[in-house]
Amino acid sequence: MEILYKIKEYAKQNRIAVNCDGEELTYRELDKLSDEVASYFIKEYPNDKSPIVICGNKENLILVLMMGALKSGRAYIPLDVTFPADRIKQVIKEVDAKVVISLTNIDLEFEGVHTRQSIEASISKYSGAKVSEEHWVKGDDNCYILFTSGSTGKPKGVQISKNNLDSFTEWFTECLKVDNENTAILNQPSYSFDLSVMPLYIGLLNGKKLFSLSKKTLENMRETFDELKKSDMRLWISTPAFASLCMQDISFSKELMPNLETVYLIGEVLPPKTVALLKERFQGVRIINSYGPTEATVAITAIDITDEILSCNKELPIGYAMDGSIIKVVDDQGKEVKEEEKGEIVVLGKSVSKGYYLNEEMTKRVFFDEEIEGVLYRGYKTGDMGYYKENILYFCGRKDFQIKLNGFRIELEDIENNLRKVTNIKNTVVLPVNKDDKISHLVAFVILEKENGLSNLKNTLLIKDELKKYIPVYMIPRNIKVVKEFPVNNNDKVDRKKLMEVL
Ligand code: AMP
Repeated sequence: MEILYKIKEYAKQNRIAVNCDGEELTYRELDKLSDEVASYFIKEYPNDKSPIVICGNKENLILVLMMGALKSGRAYIPLDVTFPADRIKQVIKEVDAKVVISLTNIDLEFEGVHTRQSIEASISKYSGAKVSEEHWVKGDDNCYILFTSGSTGKPKGVQISKNNLDSFTEWFTECLKVDNENTAILNQPSYSFDLSVMPLYIGLLNGKKLFSLSKKTLENMRETFDELKKSDMRLWISTPAFASLCMQDISFSKELMPNLETVYLIGEVLPPKTVALLKERFQGVRIINSYGPTEATVAITAIDITDEILSCNKELPIGYAMDGSIIKVVDDQGKEVKEEEKGEIVVLGKSVSKGYYLNEEMTKRVFFDEEIEGVLYRGYKTGDMGYYKENILYFCGRKDFQIKLNGFRIELEDIENNLRKVTNIKNTVVLPVNKDDKISHLVAFVILEKENGLSNLKNTLLIKDELKKYIPVYMIPRNIKVVKEFPVNNNDKVDRKKLMEVL
């Protein structure tokens, strides 16, 4: 696998692989330790290749464990500390994990769970051990499985193989024109979100220094800025939401990151205002808008947002398809629509996943194979709506109830299904509230099983407290409104528009 060869190559030089809150790990250490981790997996779990579950945040050790898993021919499943214990346990059970490593204090009720101390002790038994390439993940083997919000209330595990990753990294390195100097690249999103794949793989392949920001640092904007000041950042990769959050502080400018060359934004609609402000604060910096679902390995389109594009568009384009991939816009019958007509975005190419882990039903619903001019493509129906204008793709919303809130992918039905598990809730509808053309927060309307005489505020507190056992904090609706019934439309479906009027 290319990334593993490259780590070995950079290990011969004096390069930093990652810096997290001031703690550094060199390529040499990453290569050596990941070999030892792989040796441990291979020797102690000889008959098992189930994915390795890793719970934590941005610790450098996670990087070692992930690369170790790949060297041992196993996939890894990163689960962030922000996930509630219930959700983590659900994933462990669903994938029938044999190895679980937890760098958190959450009780996962998993027999033989590895803590930081126990995994470090296990690795040290293999000090100096080397793993031959024959063991590494290859071809269609999974490299990682990322769990995203699922409409049933259970997260779906997207499988990404070595072949998927190779096609993405090859295109992307070229598209970004990444050099291989040991300069800093932002590594902010938690490893359980697919955006993190971008700095991780593009960074390590090109010998960069991953500049990780831990949850603890990110919780304090002053500390975040102090870290950024030290970073000598060259390549910024984030959601527009994170860039906007930083820009709320006037000091987020060239003075903070004087050598910043490229700002790469992906994950949700990029508002022109965000780009205009970035151009003002970081004059001369290259700004790229990119689009893609986890199911097609992070990104599948990209475009430079030049001054001309910015001044001519109210909605910014998401760009051109990745080399070797095809992106169609289709109607309800799957037929391609004409230029400027809206339809569902369907992606076909080598970076499209084989499907959801151990979930054939969900996989069949959205993944398919199609032969085009003698070539067999893997396809994925994104559920996103879009249109082409002058051969450039534009995004214009969703077909379903999936949303992006502060860059996080959320299925509203996921929240609803988990809300229905909360004591005394009979039914619920969750809706996004828009402000300035973007979703600012969520509101849940709930009907109680039994009237309890409590105020709306008291009920809200009780519901939120129980709900956080089931879903991550970023999915918990800001407002909860107890109602007696839901208004219905002519088709006897909940009238969501009318419901919003209650607010
Ligand atoms: P995720 O799987 O978390 O990467 O989320 C993928 C979804 O995010 C896509 O299906 C889109 O709905 C949305 N998305 C990603 N990039 C963009 C973008 N540049 N503009 C608008 N929506 C985007």
